[in-house]
Amino acid sequence: MDTYLKLIKKETSQRTNIIKILAHTTWGFKSKLLIQLHKALIRSKLEYGAEVYLSAKTRALKTIDPMHNTCLRLAIGAFKSSPVESIYNISSEPPLWIRRIKIALNFAARLTRNNNEKLIPEHIKQIITKFELDFSNMIKNSIKQAPPWSTKIYITVELSENKKKETSPEIFKNLFHDLKSNLIGQDIYTDASKSEQGVGIAIIIDTKITTYKLQKNCSIYTAEAIAILSALKLIENDTHQYYNIFTDSLSIINSIQNTFHTNDIATTIINQVEKLKNLNKNIKFIWTPGHCKINGNELADQHAKKATLSEAPKQKYNTIIDTKNHINILTRNIWQNHWVNQKNKLREIKQNINPWPQTKTTRKTEIIITRLRIGHTLLTHGHLMNNQTPTECPSCGTTLTVKHLLTECRSNEEERKKHNIPSNLYEIIGPDSLPETILSFLKALNLEKKHTIINTYI
Ligand SMILES: [Zn+2]
Repeated sequence: MDTYLKLIKKETSQRTNIIKILAHTTWGFKSKLLIQLHKALIRSKLEYGAEVYLSAKTRALKTIDPMHNTCLRLAIGAFKSSPVESIYNISSEPPLWIRRIKIALNFAARLTRNNNEKLIPEHIKQIITKFELDFSNMIKNSIKQAPPWSTKIYITVELSENKKKETSPEIFKNLFHDLKSNLIGQDIYTDASKSEQGVGIAIIIDTKITTYKLQKNCSIYTAEAIAILSALKLIENDTHQYYNIFTDSLSIINSIQNTFHTNDIATTIINQVEKLKNLNKNIKFIWTPGHCKINGNELADQHAKKATLSEAPKQKYNTIIDTKNHINILTRNIWQNHWVNQKNKLREIKQNINPWPQTKTTRKTEIIITRLRIGHTLLTHGHLMNNQTPTECPSCGTTLTVKHLLTECRSNEEERKKHNIPSNLYEIIGPDSLPETILSFLKALNLEKKHTIINTYI
C-alpha cells in the first residue's frame, strides 16, 4: 500500500509544478480556474482507488494529503503559514478525509444498486453504520423482464395537450370526464406530497385509502413513482381485470413511456406491469392535471399531505439518486460541524462553509483579500519563515496582526475614517465586504505593495 501511495505522490508532484507556475501572485490565473485544474489534474489522481486505500493507515495517507493542501493553497494564493482548514474554506473544497467518506459511501451505494452488497468492504460497512445509513431499501438496477420492443405500456397523456395556463380547472374537469367515460375497469388515483415535515403518498381505490410515509430524502419524483408502484402491488391481490391509474406526474409517465431508456424505479414499475399482465391484469396510466377539482385527485392529494405529518406506515424505498443526494448533504454537514469547531482567524469572520461570493478583481487583489481574511500575511507572519520574533507595530508596540492594522492601530485612524472602514473585521473583510474599499485603504497606507501582504513565499 505504501508503495502505491508513493507512486501516486511521484506522479502528481510533476503536475503540482504546473499549478505552481500558473498560480503566480500577479499574472497568475484566478483561483477558481486553478482549483478546477487541480481537481482535474491532481485530486482525481490522488483519489484514484480511494475506496480501497481509505482503510490504509493514517501514516500512509499523510504522504498524499499535503499535496492536496499545497495545491489548494497555491490556487488561492494563501500565505505559507495559513491554517489548512482556512484554505479549505476559502477554496470551498472539503478536506480529503471528508471526500473519502463521500467516495466510500457512494461506492457502497453503487454496489447496493447493482445487487453486489456482499462486496462492500468491512471498513465501509463501519462508516455506513456510524452515520446510521440504510441502503437496504434501495431500488435495484433491475433487468427488464421483457425486451423493450415487446413491452407495451398503455399510457394516455391527451389531457396534457391542453396548456395548463390557458385551460381553466372547469374545462379540465369536463375534458377529464369525457376521457373517463371511455375507460373501463377499476380507477386508482395516486399522489405524493413533500414538505419540511416529510414525504407522503396516497393511493385511492374506490373508498379504500392507503397512505405511506416515505424516507425524508425521497425526491418528489421518487415519491410519485413509489405511489404508482404501491398501487401496482395492491392490484396483485385485487380481483379486477382492467385498471386505470391516474397520476399528475408527467415526468413519471415520460420515464415509463420511454422503455428503452429508463431509470431504476421506472424499470421496476415496467416489470411490475409485465408481471400483472401475466396474471391477466391490464394497466392503463392516465395523466390528469393536479388541482382541477377532480374528486379522486383531490382526495389523493389531501391524503398524501396528511401522510407527511402522520404516523402512516413507512414505505422505505428509495433510489440511488436520492441516496447520493443524501450522502452529499451528510458530508457537507460533517464539514460544517468540523468548521464551526475551528479556532482560527478566518472562523471569526465566517461561520459556515458556503462558497465565498465571486468578485471581478485581479489575481493580485484576490490574493490580498484572501490573505487578509485568513489573517496570515508576510507582514504579520513573515517572521515564521525566518525564525524571527513576531513583528511589532511601529506605532503601538503591540504584535502586528491583520485585525490590529484594520481596526485598532492608532496611526491608521485618520485613513480609516476617510475610507469609511467599518469598525469590525466581519464587515471589513467578511463574505459581504467589497474588495475595492479595503484596497483603496491599503493603498493609502502603502500596504498593498509587494513584500507587505503579498510576497515571494507562495
Ligand atoms: Zn499600531
